Amino acid sequence: MTTPVRITYYSADFDEASWIPGLQAAVPSAEVTLWQPGAPAADYAVVWKPPQQMLDEQPSLKAIFNTGAGVDALMKLKLPAGVPVIRLDDAGMSVQMAEYVCHAVIRHFREFEGYEADMANGKWSFRKPRSRIDYPVGILGLGVLGERVAKAVAQFDFPVNGWSRSPKALDGVQCFHGEAQLQDFLAASRIVVCLLPLTSETDSILNARTLGHIRPGGYVINVARGAHVVDADLLAAIDSGHLAGATLDVFRVEPLPQGHAFWNHPKITVTPHTSARTLRSESIAQIARKIAALQSGQTVAGLVDAGRGY
Ligand code: NDP
Repeated sequence: MTTPVRITYYSADFDEASWIPGLQAAVPSAEVTLWQPGAPAADYAVVWKPPQQMLDEQPSLKAIFNTGAGVDALMKLKLPAGVPVIRLDDAGMSVQMAEYVCHAVIRHFREFEGYEADMANGKWSFRKPRSRIDYPVGILGLGVLGERVAKAVAQFDFPVNGWSRSPKALDGVQCFHGEAQLQDFLAASRIVVCLLPLTSETDSILNARTLGHIRPGGYVINVARGAHVVDADLLAAIDSGHLAGATLDVFRVEPLPQGHAFWNHPKITVTPHTSARTLRSESIAQIARKIAALQSGQTVAGLVDAGRGY
């Protein structure tokens, strides 16, 4: 008789009542349990924002699965040496991100904010068409999500720029890479979308200096992590007229505290960290496939490089 695979689950946000039966159904031969202090040793941990104690108390993990694309919360913990961390790669998130960003780009470009205000006042007043040549869209981060977003935005004939750590070549995207090309990327972009992981290199990357490099009349869409943006610098860039506004889905403190200047700013749209949700069944199916692959000695996608932080 073979020993069953042991999976321990913990999430600070997701409902165990649906994830545990889902994991059990996807890996029928496994023993799936909710982690609690003192829980028995498991082979695989499936986690979102786990406590340090959980990792400290699991001596025989073969891998840690993060039930999100971003691993910044996990990277703040002391991880067990030699245990691979595997994040979700796509699992239904890239199409959601493409929808959200295309909506935000087009809403701004076609001036829907203005039409919404006009409608509230019963005002019939069309605006002059804008030229999309004047609205190049720059995507910070050309990974699983950024590449999909870049291609989706390009479908609407906007010029598209992308910035990554390593050099890339993507059809229809002018690619920039590395710190040395960040200024040129920003100067070539008017709508800047942040889709970077949060690491020591990207923390506060959208600050007074870099926002100043975006083309005048620029617009920021942050769908990555709140700490990518220096809030006061973004507000100053908008209030000075250098930037036309922003759509923000993520914040340094979530929920965004009542009274924060972003809430009532006429040029800022706020959404509650919803641009690309973790989809339970797609995510469980992906994790189950990866456990099967690891059990049979194969490699899997989504392996996190702890040295890089993503
Ligand atoms: P990937 O790891 O696939 O892609 C990351 C991209 O960022 C890569 O192109 C990488 O470059 C680039 N990058 C990383 N560090 C640097 C750097 N220092 N300088 C330049 N480029 C850099 O991640 P995903 O696309 O899957 O996800 C991106 C982020 O989106 C997540 O980390 C998460 O924070 C956020 N997210 C937000 C969600 C929301 O609901 N708001 C939902 C899901 C994710 P290279 O290709 O060279 O490695």
